[in-house]
Amino acid sequence: MTPPEFRNEPLVDFAKGPGRQAMEEALRTVGAALGREFPLLIGGRPVRTGETFRTVNPSQTDTVVAVVHQAGAGEVEAAVAAALTAFESWRWVPAEERAALLMRAANLLRRRRMEAAAWMIYEVGKNWTEADADVAEAIDFAEYYAREILRYAPGRPLPSIPGEMSEYLYLPLGVVAVISPWNFPLAIPAGMALGAIVCGNTVVMKPASDSAATAHAIADALTEAGLPPGVLNVIAGPGGAVGEALVAHPKVRMIAFTGSRDVGTHLFELAARTPPGQIWLKRIIAEMGGKNAIIVDDEAALDEAVAGVVASGYGYQGQKCSAGSRVVVTPKVYGEVVEMLAERVRRLEVGPAPENFPAGPVINARAEQKVLEYIEIGKREGRLAAGGGRARAGGHYIAPTIIMDVRPDARIAQEEIFGPVVAAIPARDFNDAIRIANGTAYGLTGSVYTLNPEKLAKARRELMCGNLYLNRKSTGALVGTHPFGGFNMSGTDSKAGGPEYLLNFLQPKVVAHKYW
Ligand code: NAP
Repeated sequence: MTPPEFRNEPLVDFAKGPGRQAMEEALRTVGAALGREFPLLIGGRPVRTGETFRTVNPSQTDTVVAVVHQAGAGEVEAAVAAALTAFESWRWVPAEERAALLMRAANLLRRRRMEAAAWMIYEVGKNWTEADADVAEAIDFAEYYAREILRYAPGRPLPSIPGEMSEYLYLPLGVVAVISPWNFPLAIPAGMALGAIVCGNTVVMKPASDSAATAHAIADALTEAGLPPGVLNVIAGPGGAVGEALVAHPKVRMIAFTGSRDVGTHLFELAARTPPGQIWLKRIIAEMGGKNAIIVDDEAALDEAVAGVVASGYGYQGQKCSAGSRVVVTPKVYGEVVEMLAERVRRLEVGPAPENFPAGPVINARAEQKVLEYIEIGKREGRLAAGGGRARAGGHYIAPTIIMDVRPDARIAQEEIFGPVVAAIPARDFNDAIRIANGTAYGLTGSVYTLNPEKLAKARRELMCGNLYLNRKSTGALVGTHPFGGFNMSGTDSKAGGPEYLLNFLQPKVVAHKYW
């Protein structure tokens, strides 16, 4: 069976009546279910440990979204054991069956699309379109990896020598620990888990504590699609305890991590250890943060450039790894660009995500505090051009902020803030702008706005980032079209949603047959 060509899931138009009504209804339904309990999923069974934690609506911090059962050391053990047992049968299931299962799961997610988005809106404060795009991306991962595994399933041809025939086969690895962040609470855990599962691996997933409920939609869809028990196990709890125990476990074969640089680099070291009973070197993919630059050159279409900076810098309150958090501008247009930006940014209305404000809250009190501290640092390192503090009460609201006249080596130009704060950096010329853009430890995304083809060619060659966008925003990577992953301290560049992603979850085996 050859599936139809992959196409990205279209987004819902919430400006139109049917889309808006469907979301309003989903928000009402999920709103009535808030406070629901979420058990762990181990070996196909719900597990209630009795020890629970809560996730909270960042738009309205007196509302509990979910009561989540927390794993302890025993549940980590049980989840790995269940995944190991399931691996012995799942690994032999033909790729076509695994692919068909992912496509069924994609269909189920499609049917529950509004409800999945509504949980996310309450739990992590995404506006409607951002939440819908997150669910659409999860659907895309399922559809895309289902097709991809069919490409790898037959193996690869190898040249033969006389009297011999060689085969190159792809085998799954074993138990994969999937550890994900809260900012793409469905798409990212879904992408890593689906990539692993479609290759014949089994998974223990530990979603971020702030978004533990949202991640369950993927387990629900896979279970209903017929995934055998134990192939996907979901545990929850603090990363430092539960996540770390999982990564250190000698029976875990691979770690698929997306999150911060601090945690990612720590797990990279932890994964390198070979405790007794472990008979392999663990594989790890770690996709981490960014300090992404958007270059606006004096030969740019300024209106488009400014719109791109606003979308990249402030979409989901700057809480995307791909967010453009530095705008680097050449001298002729620097003043004009900063003024245009400040004007646009001041007009961004901040309010509750369920009411679909363009700018919502940051994720939690710790993030709010950290971003406010960076704003104060920024006021000393540059000049405040817009925003500069809390925006409103009731939730974790921060005014979209621009700090101008920032030096390239300033802290707010080097450290990931992960909030609605953009540093405007003046460059001497286009070459200097490229140098500044490349001048951090990160290398995730970058954007360049100029209509000059030579400058575009220079940026294409010399701007060192995993995802470079020419004359468009730096966010909104699409599965298939923009495989995603960064250089340097942004990660292992595993290129999620790309043609080589599944190789991360496979190991090649060569078989040479002698003719008699
Ligand atoms: P984080 O603090 O690094 O957490 C990510 C995951 O790791 C969470 O599930 C967390 O659990 C867990 N964790 C924390 N400490 C751990 C430990 N010692 N051992 C094992 N697991 C541990 O990141 P975040 O705040 O959720 O997400 C934001 C970050 O992710 C930003 O830096 C952003 O740039 C990055 N990100 C990168 C990409 C990309 O593709 N490159 C995409 C999205 C986000 P708890 O939640 O329980 O702490």
